[in-house]
Amino acid sequence: MIDLDAVRADTPGCRDLIFLDNAGSSLPPTPVLHEIQDHLRREAEIGGYRAAAERADDLRAGYDVLASLLACSPDEVAFTDSASRSWLAALDSLRLEPGDRALVTEVEYHSNALALLNLGVQIEPIPSDATGAVDVTALRDMLDSRVKLVSLVHVPTNGGLVNPVHEVAEAARSVGAVVVLDACQSLGQLPVSLESVHAVTASGRKWLRGPRGTGVLAVRGLSPRLIDGRAALWESADRFTVANNAKAFELWEYSVADRLGFIAAARYALSLGIAEIAAEVSARASMTRTLLSEIPGVSVCDLGAEQCGIVSFSVAGHEAEEVRDFLWDNGVAVSVTYDSSTLFDMTRRGLKKLVRASPHYFVSPDQIARFAEVLATL
Ligand SMILES: *Cc1c(COP(=O)(O)O)cnc(C)c1O
Repeated sequence: MIDLDAVRADTPGCRDLIFLDNAGSSLPPTPVLHEIQDHLRREAEIGGYRAAAERADDLRAGYDVLASLLACSPDEVAFTDSASRSWLAALDSLRLEPGDRALVTEVEYHSNALALLNLGVQIEPIPSDATGAVDVTALRDMLDSRVKLVSLVHVPTNGGLVNPVHEVAEAARSVGAVVVLDACQSLGQLPVSLESVHAVTASGRKWLRGPRGTGVLAVRGLSPRLIDGRAALWESADRFTVANNAKAFELWEYSVADRLGFIAAARYALSLGIAEIAAEVSARASMTRTLLSEIPGVSVCDLGAEQCGIVSFSVAGHEAEEVRDFLWDNGVAVSVTYDSSTLFDMTRRGLKKLVRASPHYFVSPDQIARFAEVLATL
């Protein structure tokens, strides 16, 4: 059980605001905030290089922390500045050639699809089953030796669906395809593991409650093409040695304060327990779905037999932005998700935009009830 009073006390912003945008950018807890503020102050006192040297042990320990979170080895962890940066780094390492095939989920995130399209790679959506999840049988029928990438969005940006990971990974492996797991909406709310895939990508600011501008790439058996002085040692005019671990995917320069904040956020999640977080988030999301579905004119639009903390809905007669702004004026933070972010899925379902409410464990059940009351007055 998570101590609700304790986590709320660590989250001053949630006292007066009903914060339901954890799928967008969450409220960092005070240990994260303090870590960042303290380090920026230290940089102003003694300079960025000395300040970083003082925290060298903590920065090194960060690889162990993220490895615990992602069930991998510290050598398989690379820190980045966003989920998209992580995803691009993984894509770069695939060295795709003309004729190679890339399979994606129907709920694929726009940035993943766009990166492939811009490389001239044709993307093929894997059909979904009746529940909306990736249809593993259909996937098996699509696989052949030309499939080099299977991009699997664990949880989409636009709803509560949770896609199966192990079944997809096992099928993809049978033809030697690389599986990249986009865990941007699952890390910090659900168990996520590098175990059966080649790469996991995620950002810090969403369910993990880290600062903006942070991300992680967990990676196994891939090596980057684009590198800098963090990745390799320059030994002579044409000789250099690239790190034989995931640090080859990192860049030398980064925000040390944000990195420390990101590590603090990962520690915070681990100290609460991922299974506990998942249970609390799931309970709040189902309470939200139940209350919303009782309001006349409100349609809950989440896919999936297994559902997580993202609740998507529409209100008859009101634009999504109007709903969002009305809620904000009444002390509730939600966001709007557009068809351009998940084009295959939204087009298939005939949707243009949806309101997205994503409650974390620090949102009290009373606040969720209040949210539903407010919405009913629209
Ligand atoms: C937000 C999101 C991303 C991109 O994350 P950034 O940190 O903004 O790069 C990728 N995939 C999904 C499913 C997302 O929701």
